[in-house]
Amino acid sequence: MPEDQPVLQAIDLRKHFPVRGSRPKKFVHAVDDVNLSLHRGTVVALVGESGSGKSTIARLLAQLMPVTGGQILLHGQDATAKNRTAFHRYVRRVQMIFQDPFGSLNPVHTVRYTLTRSLKIHRGRLRGVELEAALDELLDRVQLRPAARYIDKFPHELSGGQRQRVAIARALAADPEVLLADEPISMLDVSIRLGILNLLRDLRDRLQLAILYITHDIASARYFADRTMVMYAGRIVETGDSESVTQDPKHPYTQLLVRSAPDPDDLESRARGARGEAPSLVAPPSGCRFNPRCPFATDLCRTEVPPLISVGEGREAACWGYSDRPDRPSLGSVLDAYGERPAVDVSVLEVDR
Ligand code: ATP
Ligand code: MG
Repeated sequence: MPEDQPVLQAIDLRKHFPVRGSRPKKFVHAVDDVNLSLHRGTVVALVGESGSGKSTIARLLAQLMPVTGGQILLHGQDATAKNRTAFHRYVRRVQMIFQDPFGSLNPVHTVRYTLTRSLKIHRGRLRGVELEAALDELLDRVQLRPAARYIDKFPHELSGGQRQRVAIARALAADPEVLLADEPISMLDVSIRLGILNLLRDLRDRLQLAILYITHDIASARYFADRTMVMYAGRIVETGDSESVTQDPKHPYTQLLVRSAPDPDDLESRARGARGEAPSLVAPPSGCRFNPRCPFATDLCRTEVPPLISVGEGREAACWGYSDRPDRPSLGSVLDAYGERPAVDVSVLEVDR
């Protein structure tokens, strides 16, 4: 297979959740027309504020729920699992890591039990020395050494970072090609976040994993991801190599996001203060969904959805300002509109000790 073929691909992905009790029936437009490709040995970051649809994409890619529209391809083949056996096969290839390692590990089971169970599910029953060797290797991969120090511990006897490492080891027991990591560091102490990202990077390189890294922290995307995709209200608004997207953002929303770094938690309040509420996804704004908050929006932006337009090598932005339409908006100075923009600062991630 050619190196550049994606392992996992989403084409025109769409998810609309019915609003319970609504009549006529209404829908939350959580994800619309999302395309993405994950390649071996590459990290793609999916960045956006709360409610933009990031976790929905991860859950769709993990096939934890059905799509409303679009397709998921694994090695170019339709991956829709139609029965348990097919789903099981899919899960071996595509594993998910969650935000809360405490919630995702069963508190009544030791590390040994959790990892043995995952090995058994995905690799068949191992015994004796073989099992011990496999457990040792898993803990070694996530840098919990020596294994004997951790193997018989319960989740509550471990730190948050150690728990997340166990959750990663459990995912690795399936020997996957793809890791979907949904905010894997956001619940961890700032001081240990970088250690987990460095571990994931090490796994990317050593196991040639394709990793989708979901975060609302664009600084960590710059630090960790090869490519970055920015989401706003269910749609992708900008993509490109992480360095360019974070240092020279093209879409007004990305500029706002970068402007808010390195304090991403403050993003929403600042954005709302400056530009009103994030849009309702039940009745999303027509045209560009960012138009109510965009200082440059014109009638075109209010009526037609902008496609992703090439804005440089390997870069795209869904903003009419980059089109050649005669009625396109003039982007002017976003910095004037939003204030001075500090460069993305990766120092919010402190070194693991
Ligand atoms: P966060 O950063 O807070 O985790 P997110 O980007 O992961 O946000 P999602 O969890 O994907 O966002 O949610 C996107 C939208 O879909 C939100 O408006 C959310 O309320 C809605 N949503 C998510 N899951 C469901 C569901 N099962 N039923 C109805 N609406 C849902
Ligand atoms: Mg989420």
